[in-house]
Amino acid sequence: MATNAAPLLEVRKLAVSIGGNTICRDLDLTLQPGERLAVLGRNGAGKSTLLSVLAGLRLPQAGQVLLRGSNYATHGPRKSALIRGWLPQHRGDAFASTVLEAALVGRHPHLARWDWESANDAMIVRKALAAVDLADFEERDVLTLSGGERQRLAIATLLTQAPQLFLLDEPIAHLDLKHQIAMLELVAGAARDCGAGVVMVLHEPALAWRFCDRALLIHDDGRVECGNALDMLTAERLSALYQYPLQALESEGRISFIPR
Ligand code: ADP
Ligand code: MG
Repeated sequence: MATNAAPLLEVRKLAVSIGGNTICRDLDLTLQPGERLAVLGRNGAGKSTLLSVLAGLRLPQAGQVLLRGSNYATHGPRKSALIRGWLPQHRGDAFASTVLEAALVGRHPHLARWDWESANDAMIVRKALAAVDLADFEERDVLTLSGGERQRLAIATLLTQAPQLFLLDEPIAHLDLKHQIAMLELVAGAARDCGAGVVMVLHEPALAWRFCDRALLIHDDGRVECGNALDMLTAERLSALYQYPLQALESEGRISFIPR
């Protein structure tokens, strides 16, 4: 039975493969409120595929994905959307709409079937747009946004959804350095202040080291390693993961990984 005592996300004996390639065979994973897990691996390792399985959008070959103790089928789409939010790696806008309307979509799981969005929903959306530095963009057509602006709108839409679990596929893609850090601070803030759990695909191990407490490494051969960020994000492991030699450099309590 689903209870708040159950872990936010629990993965049991998960096997996922795509196009004949195994991404994971026997993955067990538990995520509690406030935990931040980075997912790293080379292009094509299966990060997006695994995340879409965790989001309930793709069935695994074996095993279970449980949110608060129940699977997606038991929760149904609306309850699932109240618990987990998903930021896809790729998205396209088929129709013109304003930035405000696009971000309001995040409130839909919170509305009863025939409800219109309220003034309170609009206030939540405006707060989220301000948080991603899009306060002046409310009336802009989404089709006119730059790649980075569209990415920030997608993050604002997730913030308006206010899920307990954020599943973020390359959340800082297309963002300049300042906005990369700002977005990661926002997500870390949701974990710290609201107890949100976070699983995010990142390509920069130094940012995973700084913003996540755990890391999942997906190797090309179907091997997966998961553990504390400090144990996983070492030059040795990351060199093996990316199949390229990296050197760790520490400065003022931070670490960066330099390709040799
Ligand atoms: P990542 O996010 O780690 O870059 P993906 O999860 O997107 O990788 O894809 C994993 C692998 O599966 C890639 O090699 C990709 O080309 C392949 N792939 C993705 N979708 C399909 C599909 N529908 N059929 C066959 N192979 C696919
Ligand atoms: Mg991907």
